Amino acid sequence: MKKIIIAIDGYSSCGKSTMAKQLAKRLGYVYIDTGAMYRAVTLFALQNGFIAKDKIDTESLHQALDTCHITFRMNEQGTPETHLNGENVESEIRSLRVSSNVSPIATLPFVRKHLVAQQQLMGREKGIVMDGRDIGTVVFPNAELKIFVTASAEVRAKRRYDELQAKGQNVSFDEILKNVQERDYIDSHREVSPLRKADDAIELDNSHMTLEEQDEWLMQRVSIFF
Ligand code: C5P
Repeated sequence: MKKIIIAIDGYSSCGKSTMAKQLAKRLGYVYIDTGAMYRAVTLFALQNGFIAKDKIDTESLHQALDTCHITFRMNEQGTPETHLNGENVESEIRSLRVSSNVSPIATLPFVRKHLVAQQQLMGREKGIVMDGRDIGTVVFPNAELKIFVTASAEVRAKRRYDELQAKGQNVSFDEILKNVQERDYIDSHREVSPLRKADDAIELDNSHMTLEEQDEWLMQRVSIFF
């Protein structure tokens, strides 16, 4: 089977990961959630006391970054889970504490350089679906298929709210909406690799789409390559 690179970028909580995960499974491709990598670095910074009162000790983080090992391991359901220095942190990296600190961490050029290099290595044999903010613009500007996903901030916050409630994490909808809006702002206004649609990306607004409709939309775009 022909192997291509599929880049899925877009705003926070618009269902990129679910979509990318399912697509990779269907194609027998590797799935990489790059947001999880930025979240793992953020957790690493929090664990080591490099973030205090919203201030990041960038020098210490920079020095310690080589000791921050992020890997993905398959669980019993065949879904990749994020490990930080050997520990499963899949659930912890989705907490509001990490979500509130991740975008400032993701603006740091040395963090991006470090993670982008790893992501490019993961995709060197193609056959990969990668989701994030800069996959089609920076990580794989030559990806064969680029999708840019968007949805209204309220719809996205509601999805994240339902997800966290289902996991028993007690947070308010307003808090989540604020976090989604703040991350959108920081992600699209940062100096290095801001979130933007690549010129050759296809836009998907899934605010009013069911998962089935989205799936059909996606398979139409993917089937062209096979
Ligand atoms: O995708 P997710 O919402 O888990 O990403 C968490 C954060 O990581 C984003 O809000 C963004 O700040 C950062 N990120 C990034 N570049 C990527 C993926 C994520 O800057 N490729």
